[in-house]
Amino acid sequence: MLYISTRGGMQPQPFSETLLEGLAPDGGLAVPEQLPQVDAQTLERWRALTYPQLATEVLSLFATDIPREDLARMTAAAYTDFPDAVVPLRSIGGGLTLVGLSEGPTLAFKDMAMQFLGQVLEYVLEKKDRVLNIVGATSGDTGSAAEHALRGKERVSVFMLSPQGRMSSFQRAQMYSLQDENVHNIAVDGVFDDCQNLVKKLAGDLEFKRAQNLGAVNSINLGRIAAQVVYYFWAWLRVTDAVEPEFRPGFEVSFTVPSGNFGNILSGFFAKGMGVPIRRLVLAANENNVLDEFFRTGIYRPRSAADTHATSSPSMDISKASNLERFIFDLVGRDAARVVQAWDALDAVGTIDFSAEQPRFESEFGIVSGTSTHADRLATIRSVYEETGEVIDPHTADGVKVAREHVEAEVPMLVLETARPEKFAETITEAIGVELEFSPELREMMDAPQRVTEMADDEQALRAFVAEHALR
Ligand SMILES: *Cc1c(COP(=O)(O)O)cnc(C)c1O
Repeated sequence: MLYISTRGGMQPQPFSETLLEGLAPDGGLAVPEQLPQVDAQTLERWRALTYPQLATEVLSLFATDIPREDLARMTAAAYTDFPDAVVPLRSIGGGLTLVGLSEGPTLAFKDMAMQFLGQVLEYVLEKKDRVLNIVGATSGDTGSAAEHALRGKERVSVFMLSPQGRMSSFQRAQMYSLQDENVHNIAVDGVFDDCQNLVKKLAGDLEFKRAQNLGAVNSINLGRIAAQVVYYFWAWLRVTDAVEPEFRPGFEVSFTVPSGNFGNILSGFFAKGMGVPIRRLVLAANENNVLDEFFRTGIYRPRSAADTHATSSPSMDISKASNLERFIFDLVGRDAARVVQAWDALDAVGTIDFSAEQPRFESEFGIVSGTSTHADRLATIRSVYEETGEVIDPHTADGVKVAREHVEAEVPMLVLETARPEKFAETITEAIGVELEFSPELREMMDAPQRVTEMADDEQALRAFVAEHALR
């Protein structure tokens, strides 16, 4: 299996090559030359597998350049730090089932991909006898998932920029309590976009990037997308465990995905394309509804940072969706020239107009969408709590709210639980008046000493810091 660029300007590359790069050299995103196919018999064979075993099967279709026994070792290592089941499913009534993706070390779904990426990066760097210095910006979840996945690794270090005073105390503790020497937390005197711009300046300086072995693990990383495909297979298998064997082939389920950068739902789109019987992929947005607008109208209109709202589901506060280009590539029949044209138009006029194709989003690709607001989130957390006793996090609540608008009789609706409520305890208290109990481990983390470097919003200061601490 080889990977090509959505903009047509990259020599086909194997999986492990695409892991260390961000954008393709032509500015596009890496995609599989064609999606691997999984038939109904194979799906049945996979029914008996544990989560790490299933991950080995699915990932071996993407990472054909990595021997299977190595993949098996890595998936086993990636999914051990999950106290109970890796991906538990539980019904919340009304035809809805939550898919628990937040059982990992940082209590958000990003662990599912990042834990595997940590393993495979170390493996690839070892083979190539290279080191990598990851430089990233976070508003909370990505940074902590990356740090927990990469801490203590010998060939990787992490420089994670976060906006000073803008994360929850829980998110700060989760990152800054790490004492590992290869983890460098940098609190920038600015907002998330300032952090992001600093990272872009460093990564855009190709000489500095090469000299310092800089890399990224952001949401366009293909290793993350591939690892996320696994839980769509897993969820379908667990739902159909309860279905009579003769009705299992082609038994359709729908998924609702709380979305920001279009990474998680893109993985569902890949799973559908590979043969998981998925009827609909329902995209849930918050007040930052750039994606909902796109799927309802066909117009893609990225917002400015100033027009991006700070909401109570902050991990979905995006102004543009970096992975959307991979969907557009399929929408235009995998014609790279049309993708280039569309992004040229975006640069020139600030929008892309696919309104003529909009009916195909649902009819051909099964994607529909909806938006949720702060009031919706609170009401949904409250109603789920009253009906089931379950406390759901604000992002998952956005999902449940939009899922309820798209439930169909006879079609199980699976809502991806993208974080645990403890991460956003203030909003939970606002919704249901309950102070969440933290486990002893979480309390210990909140009280642990913190290690962080404070820095002005200053490119030169960051360069000097990275140059001084980078692995080489
Ligand atoms: C990152 C994140 C999302 C959005 O996922 P995308 O892959 O960017 O669409 C939703 N919820 C939570 C809790 C997240 O951390």
